[in-house]
Amino acid sequence: MKDKLLYEGKAKQVFTVEGNPELLILSYKNDATAFNGEKKAKFQGKGRYNNLISAKVFDYLHQHGVKSHFKEALNETEQLVEKTTIIPLEVVVRNVAAGSIVRRTGIKEKTIFNPPLVEFFYKKDELGDPLINDEHALLLTDATESDLQQLKEMARQVNEYLQAFFKEINLQLVDFKLEFGRNAHGDIILSDEVSPDTCRLWDIATGEKMDKDVFREDLGDLVTVYDHILTRLEAKQ
Ligand code: ADP
Ligand code: UDP
Repeated sequence: MKDKLLYEGKAKQVFTVEGNPELLILSYKNDATAFNGEKKAKFQGKGRYNNLISAKVFDYLHQHGVKSHFKEALNETEQLVEKTTIIPLEVVVRNVAAGSIVRRTGIKEKTIFNPPLVEFFYKKDELGDPLINDEHALLLTDATESDLQQLKEMARQVNEYLQAFFKEINLQLVDFKLEFGRNAHGDIILSDEVSPDTCRLWDIATGEKMDKDVFREDLGDLVTVYDHILTRLEAKQ
């Protein structure tokens, strides 16, 4: 089924699918990177956790009517998705101040955003994925004004569902990053992954960080933390 390696990124390999140009296989790697690729490490088992957690998230979003690329998890580290042309924007939603917004604006960490903030970052590794505004997004991508509104609307909707999803396993969804792409019919659908690599998740009872910040800030064993998340998700059903 898996055909040619189309692309190798920092966290995943992307393969074509024999006989079906509208599908791709995403293969999750054990690599972790942070600070625009400056900090790197390998964690045995990490790919499996992100694949299985992301699959559960996309299943849940599908049940709530969110259109996405996700078809099915094929095995422990790989999933089948609909091929899209990725819009080169990282759509970040923030419920609580953490990470780059604290460094950029001086807003105090843990400040609540109500309504949540939606930000666009230009997906360009060479430039370190800069924060951009809507006018920049119109210049830099083929997205129209109404596409940008749709991205924000979808991102806010996903936030509502994901806040509830993670609350059920005692995690606060602080912020997260989404990517969207256009499928063969021209529809904009949620793509890429939603995992503890791309979300900030804080334990509601203890405040403990349970996401990639554990690696970014050397707070403990990343795989143990990701294992707790999957275990809680499995116990939920
Ligand atoms: P990066 O490119 O940032 O290093 P990854 O290692 O996660 O990230 O690589 C996965 C790549 O696959 C990303 O560039 C992402 O935009 C792209 N991608 C995710 N979902 C799809 C999809 N459905 N169709 C095409 N490309 C996708
Ligand atoms: N994020 C991501 N990929 C990126 C940049 C950010 O998945 O290339 C996620 C990150 O994990 C966090 C959210 O987007 O959940 C907001 O990240 P932020 O802008 O605060 O940047 P950071 O300080 O995490 O680099």
